[in-house]
Amino acid sequence: GLVRALADEAGVPLAAAGVGAAGVIDHETGTVRAASATFVGWAGFPLADELGRRLGVPVSVENDVNAFLLGEAAALSRTERDVLGVMLGTGVGGAVIIDGALHHGPHGAAGEIGHTPGYSELVCTCGQTGHLETLASGTSIALRYRERTGGEAADARAVAALARGGDADALAVFAAAGRAVALASASAATLLDLPTVIVGGGVASAWDLLEPAIQATLRTDSPVSGIPLRIVPAQLGSDAVALGAIETARRALAPAPPL
Ligand SMILES: [Zn+2]
Repeated sequence: GLVRALADEAGVPLAAAGVGAAGVIDHETGTVRAASATFVGWAGFPLADELGRRLGVPVSVENDVNAFLLGEAAALSRTERDVLGVMLGTGVGGAVIIDGALHHGPHGAAGEIGHTPGYSELVCTCGQTGHLETLASGTSIALRYRERTGGEAADARAVAALARGGDADALAVFAAAGRAVALASASAATLLDLPTVIVGGGVASAWDLLEPAIQATLRTDSPVSGIPLRIVPAQLGSDAVALGAIETARRALAPAPPL
């Protein structure tokens, strides 16, 4: 109903639709393979088929972090063909564009950089230890600050406000997050020759607090291959997922991506 209403509102014939959805998506069939914490019970749901039946047009479904990266990469540069995306939100998500196209992998799970190990001795939301997410998610930033200080900080935004006021513990928490993101980026760039990393999600709005540690880490831990790795903040805010979903639908109609 909502989608049909939006289509009518646009006043133009609807040719296709794209959806950016949380969870592991089978992008070939548009089925939700594994639901996420925010969409419990969606596993196995044929989202593309259901929406397509109701709208009467082809529907493409892409993982929301993949859609975010596609939207951001298209906005950043049409010539950028190899890009890592890191989404710092409630958790840490990731996505990879190789040779101009999203890389999904055989299980649709490529780019899940948030649960790569070796960044800390802390327990992750997934139950394992030391993952990037233990330092760099919004949830973790607030948790790490409370652990250090015993003080109050409801979320990463509150920790950011404290850091900008000169709070040394808040600054240290953001520095640890920035360093971990840069190390993860350097590893991915080294493996796959990805010269550009786009960092989005709510935590990236504190770029002023992340960037010093990111730049310092790039100076000491840059890819040995000499790739000129650059790590930049996302530009599109909450529009990125929608624009990436549109790009996914457009590419499904007319392959040969200009990106
Ligand atoms: Zn984990």
